[in-house]
Amino acid sequence: MKNTFNIAVFHGDGIGPEIMGPTIDIVARMAAASQSYDLTFKDAPAGAAHYAKTGESLPDASMETARNADAILLSAMGLPNVRYKDGTEISPQIDLRKALTLFAGVRPVTVRKGQRTPLNMPAGKEIDFVLIRESTEGLFHSQGCGVVTGNEARETLLITRDISEKLFRFAFDLAKTRKQEGRGPGKVTCVDKANVFRAFAFFREMFDAEAAKHPDLAADHAYVDATALWMVQKPWDFDVMVTENMFGDILSDLGAGLMGGLGLAPSADIGLEHAVFQPCHGSAPDIAGQGLANPFAMILSAAMMLDWLGIKHNNVAMRDDGKRLREAVEDVVARGDVLTRDLGGNVGTDAAAHAVLDTLFVS
Ligand code: NAD
Repeated sequence: MKNTFNIAVFHGDGIGPEIMGPTIDIVARMAAASQSYDLTFKDAPAGAAHYAKTGESLPDASMETARNADAILLSAMGLPNVRYKDGTEISPQIDLRKALTLFAGVRPVTVRKGQRTPLNMPAGKEIDFVLIRESTEGLFHSQGCGVVTGNEARETLLITRDISEKLFRFAFDLAKTRKQEGRGPGKVTCVDKANVFRAFAFFREMFDAEAAKHPDLAADHAYVDATALWMVQKPWDFDVMVTENMFGDILSDLGAGLMGGLGLAPSADIGLEHAVFQPCHGSAPDIAGQGLANPFAMILSAAMMLDWLGIKHNNVAMRDDGKRLREAVEDVVARGDVLTRDLGGNVGTDAAAHAVLDTLFVS
């Protein structure tokens, strides 16, 4: 008997619907071919274009669809020329993180053999690490609350015990899972600035307390500035890294750069109950409507969704499909003959997505 999982779908803005369509097609076909799980999809209208049309960026009904779903797929949201009255952009993806307490922003960084990267990779080396960005507090806690008085501006960073303990538990659990899968040595690195700021010394104390509960795993610390250097010089040494929101925001784009660009960077925002899976990139209005968008980051995010659902519901076949889907994208990227323009190729969205389907079902 098949277990059915309900997926809330935010098609988003700009290239969002162009990359979401083929992604749903792929995972729906995988589910149809599976003996053990099925997927149903429910649209959740939201975003900048929706706001421009209706005056609402994230309607209550869409929030309900997200809350009731087993997992949430989201493409990019926001358009630079559609803004709230205070001048800020429409960003329901950030509202969802806060509303559903999605504290763990999971950003895998992989560079396989044959994949283009700006690094000069030593022979035989590959990159495979995960950056976990705390996604509900840190400096972003101050979003919308910054104060400018006369010639001074202030923003406040928040680190709480409640969220940090959940975050570190998540990081060590992930390192353990990766070790079992043979993807990493079982090491977690706390990335902070504990040499200067009391808040980060507090962050580090809580990290060390969680590390002490995992004698089977290694734990170390790195300052954020040195981490930026080492991500370029020796990224293959990292396994799981965990850091504050703003630091993670910046380092995850550096990670995307190592992979050859945002078009290959997937992500998940995960809490205790809910999770949103979305590419790291935005709505790319400059190429929207032309069929040129790279769908791989969206497809890799869907692979992460299958893996997360598989772990949560103890469904081995789903986890296997998540791995198969990730490896199919990696194969297409390594072959290099069917790539979109951002990766140096010349095909469009549909051809790139079809190459993944062919790898899954034909070869
Ligand atoms: P962007 O990521 O949309 O685009 C940056 C550059 O990368 C552009 O040249 C774009 O063409 C290219 N690019 C991005 N994704 C691509 C893909 N899949 N295939 C090929 N090329 C791709 O960033 P931006 O231009 O700064 O932002 C555009 C809009 O997206 C803004 O409204 C911004 O607020 C929003 N945004 C949303 C998210 C999100 O939904 N999580 C993230 C970042 C930006």
